[in-house]
Amino acid sequence: MTDELLEADGIAERKKIIDDNQDLWRSIKGVLAAVGYQKCWYCETADIRSDNAVDHFRPKGRISGEGTEGYWWLAFDVRNYRFACTYCNSRRHGEGGTIGGKADFFPLAAGSRRSDSHLIPISVEIPMLLDPCDQFDITALWFDETGQVKVNPGAEILEENVSDRVAVSRSLYHLDHVRLIEARKRVFLEVLQMCDQADEALVSYKSTQDVMARSIFHESINALRRMKKEDAPYSAVAKCAVRGYRSTSPSAKLIAEAS
Ligand SMILES: [Zn+2]
Repeated sequence: MTDELLEADGIAERKKIIDDNQDLWRSIKGVLAAVGYQKCWYCETADIRSDNAVDHFRPKGRISGEGTEGYWWLAFDVRNYRFACTYCNSRRHGEGGTIGGKADFFPLAAGSRRSDSHLIPISVEIPMLLDPCDQFDITALWFDETGQVKVNPGAEILEENVSDRVAVSRSLYHLDHVRLIEARKRVFLEVLQMCDQADEALVSYKSTQDVMARSIFHESINALRRMKKEDAPYSAVAKCAVRGYRSTSPSAKLIAEAS
């Protein structure tokens, strides 16, 4: 279908081809959802009741705030698809006065060239939005006990505008939505409590050789491993909690260093 777009005569014809063939990306929504364990690729929320969408990372139509046509030639390019919840994908108000949603926004860094045709590779661009398909971008985020999105200090050393990119992403992906913050706080706290439980059980087992304490230690460590796995709720938060706690907790250190 991309070939038809490239051969189309003008904006209106391209728009008609895109509008008439939306089933092409909708038909693979299940595959994209499965890749991310049914979690939104931007915020990690897994709500099976939500009518999640296939988001075009680079907008296929007009770019908000730019007045340009957008990345029409990527409309049928699977590499431009991201599985997104409605809060990340669409402009919405949240409780507590937050507002967010990516919609048709795709801001670039100041001075960045924009790829405004299929002849200019998208690699010329420095997007402000963090890309869940880019490993560096994923690790730019950090989470702590507040549940808020922060900047990974390590990423700041490598890319000087990363804090601006995190701020833009927090806003456009609506990552400061109050229910999201509360969910992250619960996961973070659960990790710390599980680490404490494992540490106490280990101390007890070492001093008493009580097999019950040994069993609790093993169960706690296994639970922490599960919380870090990609399919677990807000596993990115769990990973940060473990890493942040590893200088305090021997169990967190053990899990942080495990693959
Ligand atoms: Zn989301």
